[in-house]
Amino acid sequence: ARKRDGKNGASIYDEAILDRTRQRAEIEADIEAALANSWFEAHFQPIVDTRTRSTMGFEALMRLRHPRKGLQSPAAIVSVAEETGSIDRIGNEILEDALESLAKVCRIPGMERCYVAVNFSPLQFEHSLPTRIAAHAARFGLSPSQVVIEITEAVLMHDNPEIRTILDQLHSFGCRIALDDFGTGYSSLSYLSRFPVDIVKIDQSFVKSLGTDAVEIKQKNRMLMEGITAISHKMNCIVVAEGVETEEQFTQLRAIGVDCAQGYLFSKPMAVPDLITNLNTTANLLESRIA
Ligand code: C2E
Ligand code: MG
Ligand code: MG
Ligand code: MG
Repeated sequence: ARKRDGKNGASIYDEAILDRTRQRAEIEADIEAALANSWFEAHFQPIVDTRTRSTMGFEALMRLRHPRKGLQSPAAIVSVAEETGSIDRIGNEILEDALESLAKVCRIPGMERCYVAVNFSPLQFEHSLPTRIAAHAARFGLSPSQVVIEITEAVLMHDNPEIRTILDQLHSFGCRIALDDFGTGYSSLSYLSRFPVDIVKIDQSFVKSLGTDAVEIKQKNRMLMEGITAISHKMNCIVVAEGVETEEQFTQLRAIGVDCAQGYLFSKPMAVPDLITNLNTTANLLESRIA
C-alpha cells in the first residue's frame, strides 16, 4: 500500500486521480439512473426585449433532479456525458421536455409566440435531428420558428460538412440558430458568414465587465460589444446578452443596441410548473387591471 502522509508526491497525485475517477464514476452512475428514471428536466430562463422588457422566449437549461442529492447543475454532467456519449440520449430528453413545456407556456395569454432555445453539443448533430425536431414541434403544436438551436463554436470549428447540412436543414424549415458564448475562445467572425446564424449571444464575461472591471478595460469591452452588435445587425442577426444581473448593466446594454437580455436581474432558470404559476399570476393581474 502507498503512503498517504503527503510526503510522497506521487501518492498525493494518485489520490487526486483516484478522487477524480470516483467523482466521474459517480456522475456516470447518476446519469444512467437519471435516464432510466426520467430525472432530467429542462428549466426555463426568460429572455426579454431590452426596449419593452417583455419576455420573447426562454433558454432551456438542463437540470438533473436527484431524489437524494437534489437539483444538479449541468456543467460537470455535460462534460462527462460528452466523453461517454450519453449526451445524445440526455439531449433528446431535454429537447422533448423543452418543447412540451413551451407548448404549455404558450397557452398563457400573451405568451403565444414565445420561443425556446435549446443547447446542443457537437455529438447531437446526427442526420435524424431535423426530422426529430420537426416531429416534436408538430406533436406539441409548435411552429418550427419557436425553436432556437443554441450551439457554440465547438459545433462549427471543424467545418464538418455533415453538421453544415443539418444546420441548413434546420434553418430552411424555420428553426433559428443561435451562436452561444460569442466573443470568447476561438470564436471567429467568419462563422457569421459561413453558417446560417440568426442570433448572437454575447458571452457573460463581457456583461460582467460592464460593472466590475477597471475603467479602461470596461471601456474597451464596451467598445467590443458595440462592434459585435453592429456587425451582428449588419449580418441580420439579433443580439442577446447573457448574465445580466444589474440595472446598470441592463441600461448600458440597451444603449449599446443589444436587442435582448437574459440573466438573474429578470429571473433565475425556473422549473416550468413554478414558471407557469408566476406567469399566470402576472397574466391575471394584467387582465384585472384592464377589466
Ligand atoms: P450557457 O448555455 O451559456 O447557459 C447560460 C448559463 O448561465 C446557465 O448556467 C445559466 O443558469 C447561467 N446564468 C444565467 N443568468 C445568469 C446570471 O445573471 N448570472 C450568472 N452568474 N449566471 C447566469 P447553467 O444552467 O449552469 O448551464 C451551464 C452550461 O451548461 C450552459 O451554458 C451550457 O453550455 C450547458 N448546458 C446547459 N443545458 C444544456 C443542455 O441541455 N445540453 C447541453 N449540451 N448543454 C447544456
Ligand atoms: Mg446556452
Ligand atoms: Mg452562454
Ligand atoms: Mg456557456
